[in-house]
Amino acid sequence: MRVLEFEIRSGGTVRIDLGKCESCESKACVKICNTPGMGEILELKDGVPSLKPTLDEVKRGACTEDLACELECELHGNKAIVITLPLPQLDEYLRDLTETPTYLRGR
Ligand code: SF4
Repeated sequence: MRVLEFEIRSGGTVRIDLGKCESCESKACVKICNTPGMGEILELKDGVPSLKPTLDEVKRGACTEDLACELECELHGNKAIVITLPLPQLDEYLRDLTETPTYLRGR
């Protein structure tokens, strides 16, 4: 399986299943990433997405984490991108929801 996976500044990861990209006609992720104001870190190489900056540059913030590539791939591509972001406050909130009785919430 060919995969492009890289770490991003928040501590999350972006994982692209390049096997799905070969047959993708839209290459929508590359188009949206290179829209002015976006991260502009993806380019096409041998017909699949590739990183323009180094892995270290991406991890230090070249990727703006706008999540547009994942959304565009979901809507117009082959659903090849999975972005994982650490959300400790959400985890804490969900844990609180399950541990706090309903009648005490919002007090
Ligand atoms: S839109 Fe999705 S399937 Fe198409 S090239 Fe980009 S990551 Fe691959």
